[in-house]
Amino acid sequence: MTTTAHDAVLGWEATVTAYEPVMGLEVHVELGTATKMFCGCPTTFGAQPNSQVCPVCLGLPGALPVVNEVAVESAIRIGLALNCEIAPWCRFARKNYFYPDMPKNFQTSQYDEPIAFNGHLDVDLEDGSAYRVEIERAHMEEDTGKSLHVGGATGRIHGATHSLVDYNRAGIPLIEIVTKPMTGAGERAPEIARAYVATLRDLLLGLGVSDVKMEQGSMRCDVNLSLMPRGSAEFGTRSETKNVNSLRSVERAVRFEMTRHAAILSAGGSVVQETRHWHEDTGMTTAGRVKSDAEDYRYFPEPDLVPLAPPAEVVAALRASLPEPPVARRKRLQDAWGYSDLELRDVVNAGLLDLIEQTVAAGASPAAARKWWSGEIARRANAEGTDVASYAGQLGVTPAHVAELEALVTSSRLNDSMARQAWEGVLDGEGSPTAVADARGLQLVADTGALAAAVEKVIAANPEVAEKIRDGKVQAVGALIGQVMKEMRGQADAAAARELILSLLGQA
Ligand code: ADP
Ligand code: MG
Ligand code: ZN
Repeated sequence: MTTTAHDAVLGWEATVTAYEPVMGLEVHVELGTATKMFCGCPTTFGAQPNSQVCPVCLGLPGALPVVNEVAVESAIRIGLALNCEIAPWCRFARKNYFYPDMPKNFQTSQYDEPIAFNGHLDVDLEDGSAYRVEIERAHMEEDTGKSLHVGGATGRIHGATHSLVDYNRAGIPLIEIVTKPMTGAGERAPEIARAYVATLRDLLLGLGVSDVKMEQGSMRCDVNLSLMPRGSAEFGTRSETKNVNSLRSVERAVRFEMTRHAAILSAGGSVVQETRHWHEDTGMTTAGRVKSDAEDYRYFPEPDLVPLAPPAEVVAALRASLPEPPVARRKRLQDAWGYSDLELRDVVNAGLLDLIEQTVAAGASPAAARKWWSGEIARRANAEGTDVASYAGQLGVTPAHVAELEALVTSSRLNDSMARQAWEGVLDGEGSPTAVADARGLQLVADTGALAAAVEKVIAANPEVAEKIRDGKVQAVGALIGQVMKEMRGQADAAAARELILSLLGQA
């Protein structure tokens, strides 16, 4: 390929005015099991190529697979967390096709008998509304190996001089989660797609079944999209954009495909049913292979594996052991902490929920916990390119430190600006808040005589301001408090100073 013809797109407003999108998302998740789906090979990421293989995952003749029990349990737990029915009996199936990174020439998957089906996942949107994503099925399968195309400029097969294959990934357990077609999303489709993948990721993380790292490929998303003219109920022809590897890309891919389809349809053309490649750099998709619905993989039940029939008691026990769903947990914590929607969203986005929960458990108020974790330390963590929790871990800063800092303020040892200095000392590795306050001599002057002297001096020096306050302009007190602070080199208790000034000027 020498030149790339860019697909035409229609403007966003024109697209959503004329068309209604239909979306279907297929998400592949690599399970975090220690061993592969049908053999005992390890699954460690980044190992020496072809060092984690055996006759089973290399598809050598005569090798017999054995199902990984932990993977099946994980699949059932995922199905339950997605509100699915769990099949009392199901089978694996062979999906036959040739690809160099798939040594058996078939993928062991599930077809018409998935382990979990008919579920749903509620997704919270920015505007506070929720959208219910219906889940068609969640089934088990195995990953393929990885091809590396060498010698070309792009790393793609075109222009490469040779290709290398690494089978370490072949046979790693995957769960594929497929949604039913989502309708009625309208212009919110890109946001809903992103929110769904984000919610699913949180859910899987909470289940502890996968590390769900999109950038390492342990969670991958295919975006199916078609458009219907507004008012029509008949689905259009879909495109399937493969391997979209970040939340932001999911949102952008949906948006791009909507405008691309709209350009074709509004010009009287018809959409080709095909797979598309996503390009992170340009934010566009390009054509892959043409794909018909009737693609024949010659699926048939896997003869080398016995059917799965998880006993009802096992499923019930797995259901009982599910963690609280992330959405429910957030609602519960928001109620308990009295955070506004915006405050909650900020702490969730900053990954502070666990830290704040631990800090409240250590005795801090929810407001103080939020304030200290999302202030200076968040700024520093961000500058280091890391998240607050890991950064705090590196520094040895704990929830107990925040609780202690707040106690220093509520006991009137420190005012707010002193507390900030103490916190900076803690972040600089100078020890606990109390130790920093001691070492830096941070201490409100408790001596009321000194405060009274400073207040009297400041009132005398500012007769006009004092007069205003006497006349009822109470807000002018701020200027005097500032001067009292200065007078006492920052060590005054601002609340006490305010009280004293007001009472001396007849306003208390
Ligand atoms: P395939 O194997 O062809 O990828 P799947 O059944 O695995 O088919 O997945 C198809 C996905 O596409 C599902 O999420 C489904 O909801 C969605 N889908 C089906 N028809 C349409 C359509 N016309 N427009 C958009 N999405 C669709
Ligand atoms: Mg598919
Ligand atoms: Zn193996």
